[in-house]
Amino acid sequence: MNSFSVSTKGHCDMLDITPQVSKAVSQAGVMDGLATVFVAGSTAGVTTVEYEPGLVSDVKDAFERIAPQAAGYAHDSRWGDGNGYAHVRSSLLGCSLSVPIADGELTLGTWQQIVLIDFDNRPRQRKIVVQVLGERSGGEVDSGKR
Ligand code: ZN
Repeated sequence: MNSFSVSTKGHCDMLDITPQVSKAVSQAGVMDGLATVFVAGSTAGVTTVEYEPGLVSDVKDAFERIAPQAAGYAHDSRWGDGNGYAHVRSSLLGCSLSVPIADGELTLGTWQQIVLIDFDNRPRQRKIVVQVLGERSGGEVDSGKR
């Protein structure tokens, strides 16, 4: 297992984490397998997107339509932290993503980046776990344990 941390600005901040995930895959030495990218936290999510300013803005707008910040949330009534919308968005997007590995590389499309979206209403430090499973060259199976 490999992990890294990133600082976010919150408020739907979208970060391209492809370089860090690619590095974790290289370090695992798995030629044929699967990389699971997971964010530990209930107000963030992981997905893929063509990482360009237009789509960064479009995705943010889409989440505002799906789970508006100003709508009423029972979570806010109970906890008073004002981020019910962020929890709902996280649940809808999901906190993990699995990408197949072939020839030691992530099989992403040319215009497809792995992104972390932080929905919370304040800056956060986020831990991302990358679990790589599969076969190394020569048929050795990597269970992910170290
Ligand atoms: Zn909360």
